[in-house]
Amino acid sequence: MQRLVLATRNAHKVTELRAILTASEVALELVGADAYPDIPDVRETGVTFAENALLKAHALARATGLPAVADDSGLCVDVLNGAPGIFSARWAGRHGDDAANLHLLLAQLADIPDHHRGAHFACAAALALPDGTEHVVEGRLRGTLRHEPSGAGGFGYDPILQPDGDTRTCAELTPDEKNAISHRGQAFRALTPHLAHLRG
Ligand code: IMP
Repeated sequence: MQRLVLATRNAHKVTELRAILTASEVALELVGADAYPDIPDVRETGVTFAENALLKAHALARATGLPAVADDSGLCVDVLNGAPGIFSARWAGRHGDDAANLHLLLAQLADIPDHHRGAHFACAAALALPDGTEHVVEGRLRGTLRHEPSGAGGFGYDPILQPDGDTRTCAELTPDEKNAISHRGQAFRALTPHLAHLRG
């Protein structure tokens, strides 16, 4: 079976994409980048989610000689003109400090009333082949930012984004409920027609 490598060390992302491939009847063997521990991480020098996803996918495809998928995502707040955007993971200064990022954002928006608290999660998913062929697609999850965090599930900004049409935050959804509507789920699903064309 053709092997496909996903540019992440996050086992949850591998599981999510594998479930989407199975549901779409795309027969590929999906492995995470930790199957190739000697490959260095790529510096995310792009200025859009799509650029960063493509950078990561091309680097992994070159290094492994396999088709590679990468994603890049973040939270885009309307009143901040799309910030934190590509800086979502390090908005408070330290990469990956989810609690500090979320609390800084809430403080910045403290005086902003509900009707101006629109935001969306965005995700770009890129497929790169060793010959340099590329495809990139995007997904979005639109909602409103709460004034206080709520819910224990998920990660990052999940406790403050309430998806449109729901009364709960993303951190109060089950993983299946979130995957069904999430920006990442949408982007991965949009990529599957391109994945279906890969051959061993
Ligand atoms: P990455 O694309 O996995 O590096 O995610 C970048 C950052 O965006 C994360 O550290 C989170 O702060 C934020 N983010 C991306 N997707 C989500 C999500 O589904 N829920 C909450 N935060 C997210």
